[in-house]
Amino acid sequence: MRPIEHLINGELINNNGRTADVFNPSTGEVIQKVALADCATVQKAIDAAQIAFPAWRNTPPAKRAQIMYRFKQLLEVNEARIARLISQEHGKTLEDATGELKRGIENVEYACSAPEILKGEYSRNVGPNIDAWSDFQPLGVVAGITPFNFPAMVPLWMYPLAIVCGNCFILKPSERDPSSTLLIAELLLEAGLPKGVMNVVHGDKEAVDALIAAPEVKALSFVGSTPIAEYIYAEGTKRGKRVQALGGAKNHAVLMPDADLDNAVSALMGAAYGSCGERCMAISVAVCVGDQVADALVAKLVPQIKALKIGAGTSCGLDMGPLVTGQHRDKVRGYVDDGLQEGAELVVDGRNLVVSGLESGFFLGGCLFDHVTPEMRIYQEEIFGPVLCIVRVSSLEEAMRLINDHEYGNGTCIFTRDGEAARLFCDEIEVGMVGVNVPLPVPVAYHSFGGWKRSLFGDLHAYGPDGVRFYTRRKAITQRWLKRATQEAAQFAFPSNG
Ligand code: NAD
Repeated sequence: MRPIEHLINGELINNNGRTADVFNPSTGEVIQKVALADCATVQKAIDAAQIAFPAWRNTPPAKRAQIMYRFKQLLEVNEARIARLISQEHGKTLEDATGELKRGIENVEYACSAPEILKGEYSRNVGPNIDAWSDFQPLGVVAGITPFNFPAMVPLWMYPLAIVCGNCFILKPSERDPSSTLLIAELLLEAGLPKGVMNVVHGDKEAVDALIAAPEVKALSFVGSTPIAEYIYAEGTKRGKRVQALGGAKNHAVLMPDADLDNAVSALMGAAYGSCGERCMAISVAVCVGDQVADALVAKLVPQIKALKIGAGTSCGLDMGPLVTGQHRDKVRGYVDDGLQEGAELVVDGRNLVVSGLESGFFLGGCLFDHVTPEMRIYQEEIFGPVLCIVRVSSLEEAMRLINDHEYGNGTCIFTRDGEAARLFCDEIEVGMVGVNVPLPVPVAYHSFGGWKRSLFGDLHAYGPDGVRFYTRRKAITQRWLKRATQEAAQFAFPSNG
């Protein structure tokens, strides 16, 4: 079987080395192999990007943006094909895969505004005959390392913006579901991007370490789990690189006694079980203020969780597909076993789900735990599966303390009709992305995405205005043109307008 190949300098390349299996998680079968890059292959991509850089950095931003317009059109024309590839290798439903792609395309639209966002800043007459401006220049060769759970959207958070800002890019996508990511990169070349500006190397730790070690790579954008984010941030910054490393999450939804419960339940169902809980913004903890809310919530959730339509992601009209791999499914199931042992009440047990005709698929039914307490592992750790934990508290303050004490701070939300409670929550919660009656507050492309605490290492969030700052460096230029025949005496005092 010919493996999925690297895209280097505009060509598909197989390094004839190690490979990894790519599964169809709905059937449990290996459907593809993917080539894993060694250091020499990564270096080829770096060399191609370096050679492409001088011409690309000098290409007018408006011309770079025109390529992004064509790229957006190609993504839209190929939407169904891309969604099918995502669904086939990741397992998420076709509707969910389409939604992911559409949110990714938003970032291409934002990148189309390059001439506007790269205008810089200008001040005339900062001193006598002196004008000053700040220019935002590209960094050079930059790289992105992305997770399995959004094979289309998360790479699109990175390279359209990096490239439109004048950089050359090397993407190391997840080796678990690389096909849609590769196809999308090929479409960018089809849109007219010069060879070498965008390269894809598949791989694992070896490829990532080669990117970290390479002095030519000036910046690293990472999205994935917290231990790897922390590693990449430490190793990258140690070598003087600019690094933004987005990590894991444990997102809490607070349900106030005055919440519109029926709508909150619908929102929670999608946010906890959509994509099988394999979203960094998935709600995995419902914090109920008062036993009454908790009892009512459980009563409403149970029948809906039991009625979840689960099957092969590529079939239509489903709520949930399988988990990404058998190994991950077993890990999530292990958490459920753990929660029971620690004394949480398993109200809905999805462990024995069998999908008829797909007995070897990596399926797990929706699970619901009640009476979860903060010292339990199922509360502390990211499960990344279809498991929702209910924690009961007696006040909003207690709910907020709980969230603020958690090591992660990616997303959170509050369901309430009380503006004062919502305002206090937005002001004082130590989380990077907050929703009020919005369960998945993923910022649109013209804002920026990022968590707090151990959900993000680095200063700048992903995409949007922070993304532009991340992929450019400021150059401040101060310029004086004296009138002819002016003769100035030397000044020894520090120049000022005083
Ligand atoms: P992961 O950390 O296992 O892998 C992410 C990337 O790192 C992959 O490209 C992988 O090949 C590479 N990698 C894995 N092990 C490595 C190692 N030892 N050294 C160097 N590179 C390594 O994450 P995943 O399982 O693919 O994705 C799920 C995780 O990503 C979850 O924790 C989720 O919360 C997180 N995530 C976070 C965000 C966010 O924006 N904060 C978004 C999506 C996913």
